[in-house]
Amino acid sequence: MSDSGARQRTSTSVDRNGQKRSLPQISRIGVVGAGVMGRSIAEAVIYGGFGVTLFDVDLDFARAQMEVTLVQITKRIDSGKAPQSSIDQVDLTVADSISNLSDCDLVIEAIAEDLPLKKSLFLELERHLSKEAILATNTSSLSPNSIFSGLSERGRSIGLHFFNPATHMKLVEIIPTQFTTPETLDVAFEFVKRIGKSPVQAQVSPGFIVNRVARPYYSNSWRLLDESQLTPREIDALLVGCGGFKMGPFELMDLIGHDVNEAVTRSVFEQLYYDPKYRPSIRQRELVAAGLLGRKSGRGIYDHEVRGDRGEETPPGDGSDREKNKAPEDHGNFTFNGVIGEEIAPLLIRSNLAIAFNHGPDSHLLDGTTITITDGRSANELEATHGGKGSIILDYFFDVSKTSTIAFSRSNAVSDEQVEQVRSLLSSCSIELIEVGDVPGLVVARTISSIINIACELEGSAVASREDIDLAMRLGVNYPKGPFEFARAIGPKRVLELLLRLSNFYGDGYFSPSIHLRHLATTA
Ligand code: NAD
Repeated sequence: MSDSGARQRTSTSVDRNGQKRSLPQISRIGVVGAGVMGRSIAEAVIYGGFGVTLFDVDLDFARAQMEVTLVQITKRIDSGKAPQSSIDQVDLTVADSISNLSDCDLVIEAIAEDLPLKKSLFLELERHLSKEAILATNTSSLSPNSIFSGLSERGRSIGLHFFNPATHMKLVEIIPTQFTTPETLDVAFEFVKRIGKSPVQAQVSPGFIVNRVARPYYSNSWRLLDESQLTPREIDALLVGCGGFKMGPFELMDLIGHDVNEAVTRSVFEQLYYDPKYRPSIRQRELVAAGLLGRKSGRGIYDHEVRGDRGEETPPGDGSDREKNKAPEDHGNFTFNGVIGEEIAPLLIRSNLAIAFNHGPDSHLLDGTTITITDGRSANELEATHGGKGSIILDYFFDVSKTSTIAFSRSNAVSDEQVEQVRSLLSSCSIELIEVGDVPGLVVARTISSIINIACELEGSAVASREDIDLAMRLGVNYPKGPFEFARAIGPKRVLELLLRLSNFYGDGYFSPSIHLRHLATTA
């Protein structure tokens, strides 16, 4: 059964370099592991018009998962969202033995994240499949080079990293190993496109693209909890309401599960030989040790079992903050005693106030207290350079029309009254100010700059292209912009300057700018 005639079929295709290539046609896909990922990969593959054979060591579980899948597909067919018009057109079977996968042209492995288990599975698959069949792993943190290392024919092996749930997430990271043939790579690209997904390519490296570039989104927020006066809810609100992210880091980690999130962080850190930019959080480790894993255990950073008056389940930045800070109808009596510079001016476009704008960079109150956008210095450091005049620092903002919250810090000379003046000014544009404490780089600026730093490291070390990194972060974790798009919006030189200052201030290597960011800043 291991030499099916079906696999002799080929199609001609133009590869990614514009060359014509004869590719083996694939029609039947095997999915091994019927858990969270395997089940949703099987469903996504069905929508691509392929036949699917599902296999799991737990046969009863695989059968139950097939039933779940058929129900899901039926729902989609009924709502007109599936390409099939009837469930009769769906070819989904469960294999009761691994040898029943022998007529598959591509097998996607989605079993437990365990190297010896995965290695022995592929050795067994190799015995049953034809020589042309492609072997793919959905590992998120292991090296595909290691997973496939025991195979006698490694040219047809590849990483295909889907995101959860594979039915909805558009991104698939394609990871060729040291041995993957160009033909296997082309078939993988063609397959991913045929199931309606967007492929990006990454070299084998810890966390590939998304799981590596996303690390600072989480680790910065843990550092901020240690260092600032902010609560998790405020940090979430700032990254959503000012950074434009769909979910704040803490609510996202509660959703992912702190056990999973911490394990990925630790694995990337260890695999990168303990690079301090990827250092895990002791706070998160202790949350895991206490069994506070997030939504799945009822409690993580937030209490998911408490509902009602305390609003624990209300996601931050969902508009409720904005409602609370809605601009009063009439601003007639409000006057701002100072000058608004061009850096701050865009924030005020929603205001009905008649404001005299200054055509220089500086904004200040009439007593000389400056209001600036962060450049990585602390407010007290700025105060010292301004001869003791107070300093208010605002965070980075991007899409002004969507900015609902913004972080600020102040130096010791700034009074509560002065803060109230700035607060009223921004509140007239429905923007809430949240005080951070004198933390250099505030919240959004330091987080996004760190993300850009890692993205530069990946591009510079040829793990992935700039375009693929941007696409991966937008589709894989719903970032409002890719890291290089953020870098263009801020200016790479400014990002570098901010990180150099933070790096100097903290001295622990976490903010250390990569050489690739330094190159980008000098060539941009
Ligand atoms: P899961 O625990 O939900 O499912 C794993 C399944 O594999 C189980 O049903 C188990 O019975 C089966 N299994 C274990 N050993 C087997 C074997 N030798 N042969 C056949 N079946 C076997 O796990 P999951 O979350 O679906 O993760 C699967 C893989 O996908 C892992 O490598 C993980 O890193 C990766 N991944 C997970 C996610 C995610 O969000 N869960 C996202 C991307 C990638």
